Amino acid sequence: MKLENIKIVMVETSHPGNIGAAARAMKNMGLSRLALVNPQCTVDQVAYARGAGADEILQQHQTLKTLPEAVADCRLVVGTSARLRALAWPELTPETLAQKALASSVADKVAIVFGRENAGLTNDELQHCQYTVTIPSNPLFSSLNVASAIQVIGYEIYRQYSDQGQQTVQTTEPLAESAELEGYFSHLQQVLISTGFLDNSNPRQMMKRLRRLYQRAEPTRNEVNILRGILSAVEKYRK
Ligand code: SAH
Repeated sequence: MKLENIKIVMVETSHPGNIGAAARAMKNMGLSRLALVNPQCTVDQVAYARGAGADEILQQHQTLKTLPEAVADCRLVVGTSARLRALAWPELTPETLAQKALASSVADKVAIVFGRENAGLTNDELQHCQYTVTIPSNPLFSSLNVASAIQVIGYEIYRQYSDQGQQTVQTTEPLAESAELEGYFSHLQQVLISTGFLDNSNPRQMMKRLRRLYQRAEPTRNEVNILRGILSAVEKYRK
């Protein structure tokens, strides 16, 4: 997953403050590539003030004349929209968008496209997007400020990115292999029977439930060794 492969594209934005606020939201969420399509304003002091320190994103932004140019290098292109369109587009939720974007970002570039403050994206512009995403919001007041929309989408991407990062850290300790878990289950069954907790003639149902519990926990090899140590201590105590 490479956050630097995910590009935020803003189409014909008219307020420099929104561009600055977008850059700030992006930097908060670990995103760095900003492309402006035919901006209706300049990236001026107001933009930098609202950027509140996201200067390098504003300095390094690309400006392009058309949307196709802005997304030419991207495999996955997703348009954002406050309203459902007459011609239904394949829809993603912010969550499934983030999943897809992070998966694609490993090898490919991704664009998420945001529309004009007053009119959103045109249907022609959406033709260049494979999917659309709508942020769930009050149906009577569904349109977010464009920088706020970038914030929400960016948050979802960063949340999943950091979750998955933490999982990789956790799994640096090797998980128990299936054979090790099986060894633990038969040891557990033996001890549960010998202590009288399990009925020897019908241990099946309880063992199924216990297997499900331990499998859900995805224990590491070390953890399974600790559990077996506990069983051995119980056995020793009984003798
Ligand atoms: N009146 C416009 C709203 C534009 S809001 C319209 O009806 O489309 C400016 C941009 O912010 C939108 O083009 C979109 O990129 C983003 N945006 C605002 N609200 C959103 C929402 N609920 N879901 C997804 N994107 C949204």
